[in-house]
Amino acid sequence: MRISVLTMCPEMFGDFQKTPLISRAMISGRLRFDVTDFRDFTKGSFRRIDDSPYGGGPGMVIRCQPVLDALQSLRDPQSHVVILSPAGTPFTQAKAHELAAREHLILVCGHYEGFDARIYEHGDEIISIGDYILTGGELPAMVVTDAVVRLLKGSLREGSASEESFEKGLLEYPQYTRPADYKGQKVPEVLLSGNHEAIRSWREEEARRLTRKYRPDLLRK
Ligand code: SAM
Repeated sequence: MRISVLTMCPEMFGDFQKTPLISRAMISGRLRFDVTDFRDFTKGSFRRIDDSPYGGGPGMVIRCQPVLDALQSLRDPQSHVVILSPAGTPFTQAKAHELAAREHLILVCGHYEGFDARIYEHGDEIISIGDYILTGGELPAMVVTDAVVRLLKGSLREGSASEESFEKGLLEYPQYTRPADYKGQKVPEVLLSGNHEAIRSWREEEARRLTRKYRPDLLRK
């Protein structure tokens, strides 16, 4: 698949592309990842991308022209345009699966007070990564990209994603590795028993216990 990011901070994606998940996906051809600076689409010598809001108020608003011209240059009939905003639909694992099936995602990152409201009409959907305000859409774009790319076939070892939190509506069961006794903290006996059925049912019960404790809302769903 292809993921394109539209941003005014392209430099933030330099190291991100070198992270193992993303670089391996790019080298193997599973992922084509490109970053476009919408400042390059400004007209006039001031390269101005923001302006003050009509009606007054604090902060600056990102102008339509550079963003929509940049979007136009990237978009084709296969593209799915996601605008990142705290006012969007909450991002979930189910949404990550949905986006991973797309051929081309365009992730549009805001800044300042956000975009001129007319820009949102050019997106296929608006996504929030949580109920808090970040300075820009770049970290949310990285969050969405990471969650999507790890779902592409070949990114993870076969089967490892299906056991993870949220995949079955529960949090993941606790995991342990060697040593079996770390300064008196012992690994549960059942995991050392070799009894696969007992291990499976212990994990299922632990997943329910942790979900009840930390995310009872998931059980209600
Ligand atoms: N004034 C906006 C509001 O109250 O909804 C907040 C703008 S925020 C400071 C600037 C940009 O950061 C947004 O346009 C968006 O792209 C990004 N952003 C910040 N928090 C986000 C979140 N929780 N999810 C997705 N994008 C976010």
